[in-house]
Amino acid sequence: MASGGGIKIPSRLPLLLTHEGVLLPGSTVRFSVDSPRNMSLVSQRLLRGTSLKSTIIGVIPNSRDPEHDTDELPTLHKIGTAGIAVQVVGSNWPKPHYTLLITGLCRFSVSSLLKERPFVLAEVEQLDKLEQYTTPATEGVTAEDGELGELSQQFYQAAVQLLGMLDMSVPVVAKFRRLLDSLPRETLPDVVASMIRTSNMEKLQVLDAVSLEERFKKALPMLTKQIEGLKLLQKTRKTSPDNEKRVLSVRKGGGFVGRQFNLEEEDEDEDGDDAAALERKVRGASMPEAALRVCLKELKRLKKMPQSMPEYALTRNYLDLMVELPWSKSTKDCLDIRAARTLLDNDHYAMDKLKRRVLEYLAVRQLKASLKGPILCFVGPPGVGKTSVGRSIARTLGREFHRIALGGVCDQSDIRGHRRTYVGSMPGRIINGLKTVGVNNPVFLLDEVDKLGKSLQGDPAAALLEVLDPEQNHSFTDHYLNVAFDLSQVLFIATANTTSTIPPALLDRMEVLQVPGYTQEEKVEIAHRHLIPNQLEQHGLTPQQLHIPQDTTQDVISRYTREAGVRSLERKIGAICRAVAVKVAEGHRAAKTEALTPEGPTQPGDKAAPPEMPIVIDHVALKDILGAPLFEMEVSERLTLPGVALGLAWTPLGGEIMFVEASRMEGEGQLTLTGQLGDVMKESAHLAISWLRANAKTYQLTNMVGGPDPLEGTDIHLHFPAGAVTKDGPSAGVTIVTCLASLFSGQLVRSDVAMTGEITLRGLVLPVGGIKDKVLAAHRAGVKRVILPQRNEKDLEELPANVRADLDFVTAGNLDEVLNAAFDGGFPGTTSTGALPQLTSKL
Ligand code: ADP
Repeated sequence: MASGGGIKIPSRLPLLLTHEGVLLPGSTVRFSVDSPRNMSLVSQRLLRGTSLKSTIIGVIPNSRDPEHDTDELPTLHKIGTAGIAVQVVGSNWPKPHYTLLITGLCRFSVSSLLKERPFVLAEVEQLDKLEQYTTPATEGVTAEDGELGELSQQFYQAAVQLLGMLDMSVPVVAKFRRLLDSLPRETLPDVVASMIRTSNMEKLQVLDAVSLEERFKKALPMLTKQIEGLKLLQKTRKTSPDNEKRVLSVRKGGGFVGRQFNLEEEDEDEDGDDAAALERKVRGASMPEAALRVCLKELKRLKKMPQSMPEYALTRNYLDLMVELPWSKSTKDCLDIRAARTLLDNDHYAMDKLKRRVLEYLAVRQLKASLKGPILCFVGPPGVGKTSVGRSIARTLGREFHRIALGGVCDQSDIRGHRRTYVGSMPGRIINGLKTVGVNNPVFLLDEVDKLGKSLQGDPAAALLEVLDPEQNHSFTDHYLNVAFDLSQVLFIATANTTSTIPPALLDRMEVLQVPGYTQEEKVEIAHRHLIPNQLEQHGLTPQQLHIPQDTTQDVISRYTREAGVRSLERKIGAICRAVAVKVAEGHRAAKTEALTPEGPTQPGDKAAPPEMPIVIDHVALKDILGAPLFEMEVSERLTLPGVALGLAWTPLGGEIMFVEASRMEGEGQLTLTGQLGDVMKESAHLAISWLRANAKTYQLTNMVGGPDPLEGTDIHLHFPAGAVTKDGPSAGVTIVTCLASLFSGQLVRSDVAMTGEITLRGLVLPVGGIKDKVLAAHRAGVKRVILPQRNEKDLEELPANVRADLDFVTAGNLDEVLNAAFDGGFPGTTSTGALPQLTSKL
């Protein structure tokens, strides 16, 4: 069957007889030739010719044993492949020979021999068409294709399955996948058969299969066999990455030629090569003496191991990791304090105190590079920019940045790795991090050191201590590595929500920098300077498309978020961006269809009309996108009954307002406490009741029937509602007193007052912590007056001026003053009724 049109090969072809392999159309194979006939073919034909035609030769598999090759021409195999010699390289060593790179074009059959010397020339008949096929195998299967269509589909799917079992991260595999989808059906069996591991006999069968149908039938079992083999291999040696390489390994120097390429058969000596390459890598990794010794020992063991042994993969992985670790690779520090200041300022709004301290820290480092100073630990609520500052520090230093999340880590092997005797053992997070960044002097952010757990598997804090201790960390030993790695060049920074749960030994190593929450105004600024531009960019929007006015931002902050940081604010802005992105995309589509319709622009009011730019997010749009507000001002509503007071609490997530409720009923003087509370809270409650009973007369407090002892015949129930975190105990003292005083006197607490302070049995008010966060929370909630301990007055200086201006602070030294400030017009019986001597701010 002659080719019916298309490109034709010459009808007379010089023939290359080879033992070396079978060339299939669509693949490129390297042949080494040294027989007299082949040598003459190359020197007299290929090297002399000048036209493209003269580079086309026929390749015929030579079935005769090369040992017994005589001068006589063997009976030729009846079918061969015409190919283009794309490269010819000659050499005299160890004996004269040529190496040819030949790309197969199409099959031919030998019609008659024209001459035998100096090389074989034959009259040939082209068997395959040589034209530009356009339909990939995946398409174009029609019903009339019948069996062929079915076969080709089956074949294609098997090929896809085989590829799916290989590691797609190997570039050639990914490339092959793409190629497979674009290959025309006619060339599929040839190309695939030349790539998978098949013997020459098998390839010969494919070559001999002249009809396409036949070819699919011959090649399919080979493909299936390969899949089965790989399945078995993967089952036994799951972890070794080598398997795949052995199925598809690119011939060195060959590779892709045009759209055709060849993947060579497994090199017999691959193991040896592999080990040698690994050894070279080990020696080139510039690791310290001790590590090198261990590696060489492991390498020796590896060479003796059969690959099928599970331990082979383990050892191999270990060595790969050792080679990859940045033993002596580092980035160069580039520290310019002025540039650092600009960078920190550009990246972060507000947080001046923190930025100043960070700059000092960096400046000292610059002066004394070997600084073994404390580790900076940023402590503050979530979303206040702790991580982000850490990232900026890395940038100013020109170092790599890596975050290690410690939240919930309760096993020391998380830090220090598992010993290699365990199946599935791994290095710890420190070593893993170093592998990821690839240098030995990154900035490591130890995130959430306050959330380290503890368990039977050892104390991770102890392991971390070793990591951070400058006396020890130059020889940190991960259990998996089992050799020391020098961590002294790593710059560690820690973050935490609270210092109270950081193990003391660890805290001792750190310099704590408080990062308090932001005020409403600061948040607005952060939103407009950083969050909105960032989110716009992330969503592919521009300020010309989306505009969020300040009013709206304020609304988002006060009615859709309640947090010390800006994380949910950022998320809400993200939600707005997404909603607008949809609108913008719809607008584009609408604009296009509009141009296509002959009737002209769409009617006004049509939903598909492109929105006007920029889309401005007003209150209506905000409600549309974010739904009904999550937080409304609820303070004044809640304080409408006697027996409710508003306290301020500090939690690791920032300040919070906290309602304390009390009720009484007939009973035997029992006190019931409910809600989130710790032991300290119970003590505060008892203290408060005792003090009130002792002073009942002064303040005209009575029980339910008007008796002088508030507890007589009365049960009291105190409740601390809402809030998922255990409130810090003692600072609720004044609130409990106020709440009970309100209950016993029947007077309402002022609805715009919040308070904090610890109490003593004698009625003194003691200072408490977290004033800034608490006051900010009160401000967020719309409170007007804050009562706090006198000795906390100095803390007010830390507050932003606008917050100070908005609020009215009363500093109290004793409970008398507290009660006086908490009730409208003062509390009956207080010494200073009506007058408020401690007022420090406006009124
Ligand atoms: P944390 O680590 O304290 O939980 P992050 O660093 O993850 O908080 O901050 C959350 C987001 O808020 C980040 O996108 C960060 O850039 C942004 N952010 C926080 N504080 C500021 C600030 N002062 N200026 C600009 N952006 C800030």
